[in-house]
This record gives sequence, structure tokens and C-alpha cells, in this order.
Amino acid sequence: MPLNRHKSQDLFKDAKEILPGGVNSPVRAFGAVGGEPLFIERAEGPYLYDADGNRYIDYIGSWGPAIIGHAHPEVVSAVSDVMSKGFSFGAPTEIETKLAQKIRQLVPSMEMMRFVSSGTEACMSALRLARGFTGRNKLIKYNGCYHGHADMLLVKAGSGVATLGIPGSPGVPEGATHDTLVAPFNDLAATEALLNENKEQVAAIIIEPIAGNANFIRPSQEFIQGLRKLCDEHQTLLIFDEVMTGFRVHLNCAQGLFGVKPDLSTFGKVIGGGMPIGVYGGRRDVMNKVAPAGPVYQAGTLSGNPLAVTCGMKTLELLENKYSFTELSNRTNRLAVGLRDAARKNGVTLSSDSEGGMFGFAFSEAMPKNFDDAKAANIEAFNHFFAAMIDEGVYLAPSAYEAGFVSTTHSDDDIDATIEAAAKVFSTMSQA
Ligand code: PMP
Repeated sequence: MPLNRHKSQDLFKDAKEILPGGVNSPVRAFGAVGGEPLFIERAEGPYLYDADGNRYIDYIGSWGPAIIGHAHPEVVSAVSDVMSKGFSFGAPTEIETKLAQKIRQLVPSMEMMRFVSSGTEACMSALRLARGFTGRNKLIKYNGCYHGHADMLLVKAGSGVATLGIPGSPGVPEGATHDTLVAPFNDLAATEALLNENKEQVAAIIIEPIAGNANFIRPSQEFIQGLRKLCDEHQTLLIFDEVMTGFRVHLNCAQGLFGVKPDLSTFGKVIGGGMPIGVYGGRRDVMNKVAPAGPVYQAGTLSGNPLAVTCGMKTLELLENKYSFTELSNRTNRLAVGLRDAARKNGVTLSSDSEGGMFGFAFSEAMPKNFDDAKAANIEAFNHFFAAMIDEGVYLAPSAYEAGFVSTTHSDDDIDATIEAAAKVFSTMSQA
């Protein structure tokens, strides 16, 4: 039964009149799945409540930050205390150093770091720094990886001429992406070839260590270890974009999980617990080039904002001390396996995978190993499944190319209810 969504529909009409596409970030519009967005009124734990009063089990978690659930009472209380003392000072505060120390304790490669206000800023700044430090201009990114919307990173991924660095959006001048080289994920030989063709010119390789913006693409151990070796051989900096995977796939992040130490890393999402934040950091000799310690300029009025820093600090503390990452991993895995089994029982081809509190599934025989694989899955089946699951009260990411997220507040009952709802939907899907 379709849910009543009249209020959301009315609110969307008003929004479209004044906000481009009715939203402030494109995927929210549900355009990829041919639907209309739900307007959310509030959230608590693992649940979202829309303007019409419908409740959903939420597997987006604000696109990752809500790892200990929405509006955790201890986080609300910590942020409220800080809020009463002022929102932003544009001056140093003790808590910024404390959050930096907490991040370094969990991720030792982050010897020094700089807070910013979004993942986009973190990646953009890390690359400027890499270029400034090495005196080289080129960078390598991977087909299907997203690193925010800075010009140099908005390279059309996936086309036959991907390695030529063609801008993926009007308004991005060719010059901005001229030095951006693109390689296929999980293809070490292609990366090595690019490095050899551009000897002593590549400042950095930037990668999502598990690609979450192209479904859920796991790197082979050979690939991820091989990148470290190649970077050492070519004096190229290795940058892990852990905006999504950070404190999400493992308490020590993807780099802890894979045992690979990048030169620089970027984080966002979980480290702000839902407030706007990002951070870039890594090797001390590299980070000491950032202004005012060094000549590479980067700044921000709201950087290190006390509300965001407090929200992130409390979230990380609770995640580390109050909850079990193993339990979160097991529950997420149970969901991924449960979805796959329910599909197969109903004659629907589905593959799935998970790591920590992050999961993905694809309507294909096997999980994708690169972006071309992800595009070859049955996207129509996904779109149908997504819309039907909304009607069952389950809120999944509205795109076949996005990963999903489970929080520590999702109970076994929530997971069971989700698998049951999926089984019901799969039983109506015929795959001839
Ligand atoms: N890097 C990755 C891996 C991301 O997933 C995202 C956002 N989804 C970003 C960078 C950009 O972060 P933000 O949206 O905070 O600018």
C-alpha cells in the first residue's frame, strides 16, 4: 500500500519554486530512482519520521554520520551545554585539540591535522597541500570514486576517455581537470602505467579505500597494498579519502582494517556526528606546510566550530567506549546476508557485502569490482525495490550507486523487519 505522502508532496512543490530541484544536494531529490523526496520532520535512534507522520527504518543515517543513531541523548546534552556558551568564536578552543588527539589515538597516521567544514573542503585542501608539498601538479583518482565537488575532482568517471580528464559538469573549465588522471578501481597495472607515463609529475593518488559512491566496492588486498608500494617508488603521496569509511568500517578506519598507512587522509561525516565538519591530516612534515606553519594557504571562518567539534567528540567517545563495533559489524552483515538470501529464495539475483556499519547490495551475480561492474547491474530492479521498500517503511539510499549504513541503535528486530519487508517485495519481482 502506498503511504500517505501529501504533506511531503506539498512541501516539495514549495521547495522547487525556490531551491533548484527542491533540494540543497542533488541525490536527495530521488531523481535517480524516479521518485519524489520525503520531507523529514525528526529522527530518533534508527528511525526517521516524515512530515506526514510516517516512520521509516533509516539506512542512510544522514549519509553516514548517524553511526550511534539520531539525536543520541548524551550527544544532545553535550551539544546543548556548549551551545549555551556561544556558537562560534573564530578563535582556538581546547576541544579542537582534544578531538584531534582522539582522532590520532584511533588513526595513528594522522600525526597532525586541520579541521574544515565539509568532506569537499577536506579533499580539496589535501590535494592543494599534496601539490604544494611535492611541487607536482597531476593527481590520480579512480573511476566511480567521489571526493566532493571541487573542480579538479569533478572529472567525468566511466567514459571511454576517462583518463583524459574531461570535466563532469558545465562550469568546470578544462584547465581545472587537465591534470586529473583517472584509473579503474582495483586495477594496479593501469595505475602503474599512469605513473610511468607521467614520471615525477603525479603529486598524489586519492582513493576511497572502499568505494561507497559507486555501490560498495571492496579493494583487493593486492591492489590496496600495491598502491602504497607504487606511491613509495614514485614519491607520490597516497591519500585515503575516509570521509565515508572513517570510523564506519572499523574503529581504526579502512587504513586500520587493511593495514595500509596513507601519507594523508580525509574524514568527515562520523567525526561530526551530524554537524558540518571535515578534517585532513597525516604526515607531520607534509602538514607543517599548511599556513600559518607553512606556505600552503587554507582557511575557514567556521573551521573547528565548537558545536560540530563537541558533537563529533561525543559521538566518537560513545562509539569507542559504549558500543561494540563487532556487534555493529555482525548486525550489518546479518542484514546484507539476509537481503541476499531473501532475494535468492524468491528467484531474484542479488549480491551483497558489508564491512563494519557499511553495506551494499547489487542486482547482479557478484558484487562490483569497479565502476563498470556497478553500472552493469540491474538498475531498474533497484529502482523498483527502492520505491517498494519506502512503502514498507524502510528508507534506503535512493541510488543503486550509494552504500547503506547501519547504526548501533538498529536492533535485531529492525534488521528482521527489514529482511521481511524485502522478502515481500522480492516475491513481487519477477526476473525473467
Ligand atoms: N568524499 C567521500 C568519500 C564522500 O562520500 C563525500 C560525500 N558523500 C565527500 C568526500 C564530500 O563530503 P561533503 O559532502 O561533506 O562535502
